[in-house]
Amino acid sequence: METAWLDRLRDGRIVVLDGATGGELRRRGVDLSGEVWSALAARDHRDVLREIHADYIRAGADIITTNTFSSSRYVLESAGLGHQFAEINRQAVAAAVAARTDVAERPVAIAGSISCFPPRFDPTRYPSREAERDAYRELAVLLAEEGVDLLALEMIQDIEHGALALDAALETGLPVCLGLSARSSGDGLTAYDDPAQLFEPLLRPLLERSPSVVAIMHTPVDVVGEALAAVVAAGWERPLGAYPELDTEPGLGAATGAMTSPIELATAAAGWVDAGVRLLGGCCGAGPEHIAALAAIRDHGR
Ligand SMILES: [Zn+2]
Repeated sequence: METAWLDRLRDGRIVVLDGATGGELRRRGVDLSGEVWSALAARDHRDVLREIHADYIRAGADIITTNTFSSSRYVLESAGLGHQFAEINRQAVAAAVAARTDVAERPVAIAGSISCFPPRFDPTRYPSREAERDAYRELAVLLAEEGVDLLALEMIQDIEHGALALDAALETGLPVCLGLSARSSGDGLTAYDDPAQLFEPLLRPLLERSPSVVAIMHTPVDVVGEALAAVVAAGWERPLGAYPELDTEPGLGAATGAMTSPIELATAAAGWVDAGVRLLGGCCGAGPEHIAALAAIRDHGR
């Protein structure tokens, strides 16, 4: 298991994560699904997916993330693809492993992505609590067996679903990066997808489960600082990460407007480093050029 990234984080050094996968697939001509979003790329466009991973490694990423954000069993079942669960997820890991084998000239870790993405983007379509828990466990175990180095919980923003996914990830014994998503409502932070749910009350019950890293991700750039401060205020003293959304993907919320340039992201990231962040990357809207700008902070300071 590749653990250099975690040693670096614990030493207070910067570690660079990759950028978006779904948006990059679309940018390279792959249609995403209204039911399972990017999940079928591992089956139908494996060469494109492998090249995206390779481009992030060439740009300087220390960690690349598997395209398994929207491929839990209940999501695939909603599109009649439950029987392909193992094949799709194994191929997603294989694409990342192949990219690392092909182009990595330094230690590169592979993060297995797990989210609480609801079937067809519709939160009313979650399965029973037991089926949901079993699906997170099934995906976490598959990712561990296929050889990922850590698990990345992504877009976690509630206890109801987020704690099930986090517990399943932690049960594997792999290091876990807990990725939380927030937005600003004007008078405080809320869950990214639910402006009626405040962000701060989610933190303690999730942080006390002791993931290896807590990252603010898929969160607008101008909200990241406030969300990081809330994590610290909730008592978190271990490694912190930030990989914001630079432009919202259709189907994952309203458009945020203009893209953030690599230089603008690096400028914001330098401020987060000053606030204690050591894991840097990008989410929706971030491409290899953004990751290269973050790798420059790691390699040359600013
Ligand atoms: Zn995102």
